[in-house]
Amino acid sequence: MSVVNETVLTYLPAKRKQTPSGWLSFNAPCYHHNGHAADTRGRGGLISNPDGGVSYHCFNCGFKASWQPGRPFSHKLRKLLQWIGAPDDVVNKVAFAVMRENEGVEAQTRIAELPSFNTVPLPDDAIKITDITDFDKYSMAVLEYMALRNLNTDDTNYYWSPSLGYRDRLIIPFYYDGRIVGWTGRSVNPDKKPKYLTEVQPGYVYGLDEQSYNKVFAIVVEGQIDAIHIDGCALGGSEISDQQVMLLNKLQKQIIVVPDRDKAGSKLVERAIELGWSVAMPDWDSDITDVGDAVDKYGRLYTLYSIANTAEESAIKIRLRAKKWFT
Ligand SMILES: [Zn+2]
Repeated sequence: MSVVNETVLTYLPAKRKQTPSGWLSFNAPCYHHNGHAADTRGRGGLISNPDGGVSYHCFNCGFKASWQPGRPFSHKLRKLLQWIGAPDDVVNKVAFAVMRENEGVEAQTRIAELPSFNTVPLPDDAIKITDITDFDKYSMAVLEYMALRNLNTDDTNYYWSPSLGYRDRLIIPFYYDGRIVGWTGRSVNPDKKPKYLTEVQPGYVYGLDEQSYNKVFAIVVEGQIDAIHIDGCALGGSEISDQQVMLLNKLQKQIIVVPDRDKAGSKLVERAIELGWSVAMPDWDSDITDVGDAVDKYGRLYTLYSIANTAEESAIKIRLRAKKWFT
């Protein structure tokens, strides 16, 4: 037995039959979520393995959820537990227990595979935005930029440096396990090139520290500022490296990619499909090209809601939406 099949068996409908091959059959709990009528004929099937693994299958809608020891706690398993009535705190405890157990098992192999990131310094004389006492035209321009782009001092530790190469940039540190492992300096002066000065290590994903275990999904975007707006992760571009894939999959959450509305974004959609990730392309106005624009126009809460609400898992549905999104 495992914490997973114990929990599933605890909350499964009491009215159930066991078949000779070991399946438990009961009325499928997925009907009102997946669009079929309430089940009265025991079309939900569950098999529980001696090693603690569990498989659920609905013979009405085809919904499947399974778990095996060593495997991540999937968002489908989370749905199943919710549908059979397990309270959120129980579901979170199970998800956490699985994560802890897998960490122990995988510790040795992971050292070889996962990227590690060294701590790096910020640009010279960088200070936290909230510690600025010298309000000159440079620091004021950075504060004005933050106000214009709806960036708040409680989002993350924004920095500013009075030193020559950096004084007209908003510095965003890249954290990993609470350490600063890189940064980007966004120019706040439209004439100042390059737009970003960035120090980043290979395989890095921005925002992983914010993806606490009780979050159901992780939203993945291209740019760091977009990620900050929605507590998501940023790839730092439209490509996804294998190391980034490992770090994101390790979160054991539904991954929802929100592509920018350009050619690179459409490639990113195909890559997300290949990885089995979800893609969200909300019904935003056609002049909205990324999350930052959406936040400016609709605010953070609605932007987040519209992403969660339009996330698609099926490749066909994703490609259909992409036709509208990229025109
Ligand atoms: Zn079903």
